[in-house]
Amino acid sequence: MYMRAVIVDAPEQVRVDNVAEPMPGPSEVLIRVGASGICGTDLHIIGGDSPLARYPLIPGHEFAGEVVAVGSGLQSEGKAGVPITVGSRVAVEPNLYCGQCEFCRTGHENLCLNYAAIGVTINGAFAQYVTVPAAKAYVLPETLSFREGALIEPVSCAVHGMHSLNPRFGDTFLIVGAGTMGLLLLQLAVRGGASRIAVVDVNTQRLARAEQLGATRVYTDIQHALKDEPLGFNCVIDATGVAPVIEQAFMTVKRGGKFMIFGVASHEARVSLSPFRIYNDEITIVGSMAVLFSFQAALDVMSAGVIDTQAMLTTALPLDDFPKALDMVRRGEGVKTQIVLNA
Ligand SMILES: [Zn+2]
Ligand SMILES: [Zn+2]
Repeated sequence: MYMRAVIVDAPEQVRVDNVAEPMPGPSEVLIRVGASGICGTDLHIIGGDSPLARYPLIPGHEFAGEVVAVGSGLQSEGKAGVPITVGSRVAVEPNLYCGQCEFCRTGHENLCLNYAAIGVTINGAFAQYVTVPAAKAYVLPETLSFREGALIEPVSCAVHGMHSLNPRFGDTFLIVGAGTMGLLLLQLAVRGGASRIAVVDVNTQRLARAEQLGATRVYTDIQHALKDEPLGFNCVIDATGVAPVIEQAFMTVKRGGKFMIFGVASHEARVSLSPFRIYNDEITIVGSMAVLFSFQAALDVMSAGVIDTQAMLTTALPLDDFPKALDMVRRGEGVKTQIVLNA
């Protein structure tokens, strides 16, 4: 049986074509994909600057759909508390860990030395069907659509970010970058007890959306934000990954505050920060990479309506329009662009 899929043969060589439908292994399930989001990681994979990507590859790691077949090892009676069966509507945590390296064995699976991921190192969900380990599938409540389910993965990255940052109730925030991740972090900060949240972006449409989603003040440049808050902010989050922006954002961290590097910079990027200031002002610098036991929390956050999905899910296109969707993402149009399938 054949299915439609996006195939990246090599960097910048993308086609939508017919490929063989995958078969689930013993502990896997076959999912008929309902929605699959495009994110910055996909641009890196297609652009050839993802160190992990293997080609040819079907990308797509933010997805939800319906289980249509289960592997031979899963066909007998299910285990207690494991409700996945044919017909289950699920969202999928795409990160795969070896379970054997030192980091996996000490509670840092996201830092696994043999890190792999659905849609990055193995075939993902810009396709009609995808196979995933059953252990990675989470049952969606009836109230969440597949499009909302496909947003859980980026939300789980933001939840892990908030776990890592560990802000205090009443903290002031500066979030630099109002793309999908900046806007998700904003909504979590609002619910997490932030007192004031400033958001900076060069795109004024995104700033308007940030205001709608709870930003107290919005700015097109960091200096201006600092003028209104001269002592700085308790928590500063960079969601751009742009080195000069990170240097400027560092200047806005309040004495005793925290600075989280959340945006993905290139491997070669370097920033110049004052070690005296880190010492003298007791500044904590926090990194946050992907997800760590935050997928269930993100699912619960989505179910509870914490994320305004109307505001976040701006575009839905069919699979054959993938090149068009990709262009929209590259131009920074809208917030989250998704491919909808089998609709
Ligand atoms: Zn992503
Ligand atoms: Zn490992």
